[in-house]
Amino acid sequence: MLYDLHCHSDHSDGELSPEQLVDLARERGVTCLAITDHDTDSGYRRARLYCEAESDVPRLISGIELSCVWRKFSIHVVGLNLNVDHPPYVEALARQAQARERRAETIAHKLQKKSGLPDLLPAARRLAAGSTIGRPHFAAAMLEQGLVSDLNAAFKRYLGAGKCGDVKTEWPELAEVVQWIVEAGGVAVLAHPLKYKMTRTKLRQMLTDFGECGGRAVEVASGSSDTAEVQYVARLARELGLLASAGSDFHGRKMPWNQLGRVAAIPADNPCVWELF
Ligand code: AMP
Ligand code: MN
Ligand code: MN
Ligand code: MN
Repeated sequence: MLYDLHCHSDHSDGELSPEQLVDLARERGVTCLAITDHDTDSGYRRARLYCEAESDVPRLISGIELSCVWRKFSIHVVGLNLNVDHPPYVEALARQAQARERRAETIAHKLQKKSGLPDLLPAARRLAAGSTIGRPHFAAAMLEQGLVSDLNAAFKRYLGAGKCGDVKTEWPELAEVVQWIVEAGGVAVLAHPLKYKMTRTKLRQMLTDFGECGGRAVEVASGSSDTAEVQYVARLARELGLLASAGSDFHGRKMPWNQLGRVAAIPADNPCVWELF
């Protein structure tokens, strides 16, 4: 079995349509797939229709990647195997969409006022083209207007952690998004734990809080994590009683180091999240 429980379609900041994502997963031998777009499940819903019509497709698990905050950190929580029609969950996603819209306005405003950039909101909106708007669309707008030499430079200079365009005032608390997932019958998974650049003590504290508010799993194999990183998170997961998950965080060509279906193996002594499905 090959599990890839974290990837993005063009309904958020991924490159491929949900149908193309399912095709690629099938090609790569993924047997169980979760599409986890940022704060929307419309890509998953499209993929579900496609999977019902196609043969030899991977088993598709419902998914989402929710933005939230813990202390001063922006955190991502993946929700898996949830009832996407649970009314409070549907309402929560509508609020997240509004939060993203307000946040985009704030990002554009701050980039103008604090960094002296032109108003990038119209271009970012056009580039998002109906998907959940986020920092990658502002990065693409900067690139299009010749303000930066590549996407990475846009994050480094304007949008990355601690920079002017890193706006997180709109996001709910970690405990709240975990509750949305749990109440929709899903499993909450802490995404890419080493991406937050926390000290070991902070990371342990965050994962402890996550477990106490109903989080069940952590991505032990995330994106292109190396063996030492897998071992480190695997051990933390065992110590804190969290299940292990695995996801490539595939977005397409803009992040070529994360490839669909390419995830490190989970150490044999870690219980895995898919045992719940
Ligand atoms: P947002 O959801 O608006 O906070 O944007 C976060 C997304 O930006 C992440 O999910 C990544 O896909 C993307 N991202 C973060 N850092 C970088 C980077 N240095 N270069 C390119 N994309 C990035
Ligand atoms: Mn992304
Ligand atoms: Mn993420
Ligand atoms: Mn992701």
